[in-house]
Amino acid sequence: MIEFRNVSKHYGQKQVALDRVDLRLQRGEFAFLTGHSGAGKSTLLKLLLRLEQPSSGEVYVGGQALSTMLARQVPYYRRHLGFVFQNAHLIPERSVFDNVAMPLIIANVDSRELQRRVHAALDKVGLLRKERAMPESLSGGEAQRVSIARAIVNRPPILLADEPTGNLDPTLSAEILNLFEAFNQVGVTVLIASHDLDLLEALGHRIIRLEHGAISGTAHGVAS
Ligand code: ADP
Ligand code: ADP
Repeated sequence: MIEFRNVSKHYGQKQVALDRVDLRLQRGEFAFLTGHSGAGKSTLLKLLLRLEQPSSGEVYVGGQALSTMLARQVPYYRRHLGFVFQNAHLIPERSVFDNVAMPLIIANVDSRELQRRVHAALDKVGLLRKERAMPESLSGGEAQRVSIARAIVNRPPILLADEPTGNLDPTLSAEILNLFEAFNQVGVTVLIASHDLDLLEALGHRIIRLEHGAISGTAHGVAS
């Protein structure tokens, strides 16, 4: 589903963000990407989103080499990826419903189908009752759940996240990771960048470690 073949990424002359990365994720896999700050986690995700391009090597998603994708194809490609940030990044003057509906509006989904999918997405994250709420009235955990609903409302086969629990306490973090697991159980391929190793190791998923841009190991956590 996802493959990095000998991928390096430099910023400018000297800054090596990724160094000859080889990585494969099977369809339906659940993996964490971990490593120190500056290890290259965000860069790896940006290459998948095609926000950045490799300096050398090739990234494949669903069998397609991303370097061969034309600029005008990129927005369509990105619809196949759900993305969750550290902060929820909700539009403050729009309701929860409208925030979740945004990717469907962009994709020109008709209004009945849009209603149905937004409700389904909010139901999956347990926030159907908040559809009319405004973002400012939500707790941090609720806001993050809304951003997850927005990420999956297009039913993407791949869900990516960059430190999605970075601003949450351990209980809320565990709830958020449970949501990612639930989507994985219905077949979504999940890749989550996080430096919160204590939390990750207890979950029993694959853990890919980056060190100064290079993969330094891949192991499995121990499910408790
Ligand atoms: P992580 O997400 O693991 O903290 P990043 O991928 O953000 O790591 O960064 C990897 C390295 O590349 C760091 O040294 C960072 O400072 C550098 N870097 C990231 N983005 C840029 C950029 N746009 N320009 C220059 N250097 C960058
Ligand atoms: P994030 O959580 O989005 O990675 P950061 O503070 O790490 O937030 O980075 C903010 C932005 O700055 C990112 O787009 C990242 O690629 C870029 N960046 C990171 N390190 C550098 C750097 N050394 N020089 C220039 N840009 C950088």
